[in-house]
Amino acid sequence: MVNIPYGRQDITEADIDAVVAVLKSDFLTQGPTVPKFEQAVSNYCGAHYALALNSATSALHVACLALGLGPGDWLWTSTITFVASANCGLYCGAKIDFVDIDPLSYNLCPVALERKLEKAKGEGRIPKIVVAVHLCGQPCDMVAINGLAQRYGFKVIEDASHAIGGRFQGEPIGNCRFSDVTIFSFHPVKIITTAEGGMAVTNSAELAKKMTLLRSHGITRDPMQMTCESEGPWFYQQIELGFNYRLTDLQAALGLSQMDRLQSYVSKRKQLANRYDELLSALPVTTPWQSSDSYSSWHLYVIRIQLGKVKKSQREIFDTLRASGIEVNLHYIPLYKHPYYQRMGFNVSDFPQSQQYYSEALSLPMYATLSESQQDRVVAEIKAVIQT
Ligand SMILES: *Cc1c(COP(=O)(O)O)cnc(C)c1O
Repeated sequence: MVNIPYGRQDITEADIDAVVAVLKSDFLTQGPTVPKFEQAVSNYCGAHYALALNSATSALHVACLALGLGPGDWLWTSTITFVASANCGLYCGAKIDFVDIDPLSYNLCPVALERKLEKAKGEGRIPKIVVAVHLCGQPCDMVAINGLAQRYGFKVIEDASHAIGGRFQGEPIGNCRFSDVTIFSFHPVKIITTAEGGMAVTNSAELAKKMTLLRSHGITRDPMQMTCESEGPWFYQQIELGFNYRLTDLQAALGLSQMDRLQSYVSKRKQLANRYDELLSALPVTTPWQSSDSYSSWHLYVIRIQLGKVKKSQREIFDTLRASGIEVNLHYIPLYKHPYYQRMGFNVSDFPQSQQYYSEALSLPMYATLSESQQDRVVAEIKAVIQT
């Protein structure tokens, strides 16, 4: 029997045709397709500005720089996320600290955040940026985080790598109602894909302008931004130190074509999640909690094994499932456990919720083309390993 991965892309003939059309056109990159893709995403999210980048990691980097993060500043984020959510701060020379997770949502805990801010205030080290990660597609409590941002004076980036198509209080993730910038990832395991790729969305003209410069070497062709009169039609100026973080038109064509199916992908994931909830309800596992305030895009379906009620260890369950072709995964290793972050002196005991989560979590296969019979196989294998 074929293996069932934890996540995978869906590529249709329409996607292939869209990419081939760009291949046959005049522009492989920096043509008309990138702005079309950006327009589609900003329309969908209801944000004023959308900038395509070659990854979500690049998007996080330019968002941090545009928000003025630099040496001596602090960036805080959740412990349970992909390394990029924190690394972006280090790229800017800032220092990193972590906030423990909420035991229900597994997102950055607003109560822990407030406690930490109160302490930091006394020590004069309020973060400049907090990166709120919508883990699995489940939105963070953005009202609470935004309230703290107002009170303590920090900026908010939503790392919505998992969450395009999700909603918070009925409104799309990415409208930046409670944040300065929201970023998306289009890596193949995410909700829609451009192979590699990302997007930064914002309502701030100023931030959009800065991120646009940083995306392409800090070069401008806009006479308004130049320090002197244009010297001719060839003229441009480098006014900042930027990067080559551009997305290609080939990738944008794939993304634009995938956007047509975003809604159906997310509803399919939601159906699968509901079905997992039912099929697993009698087992000693905790299925994902959902806020009544939000609609998850279901990038991941994470269960927690109730270890006190199961004879097997997390590792045994993991290995047995993998051996039977169910490619479960564990999202994520708490960031403070990585050697690179350990060298900064993080103390495991400061993050009890994250430690417990890490010892119990298991990501089950979840993607739009997962069939019900494949899902039944996943559940049957879980039952078999847990009940023996
Ligand atoms: C995938 C991911 C990223 C990085 O995305 P890339 O597009 O691969 O750079 C960042 N943050 C989170 C939470 C992710 O899951």
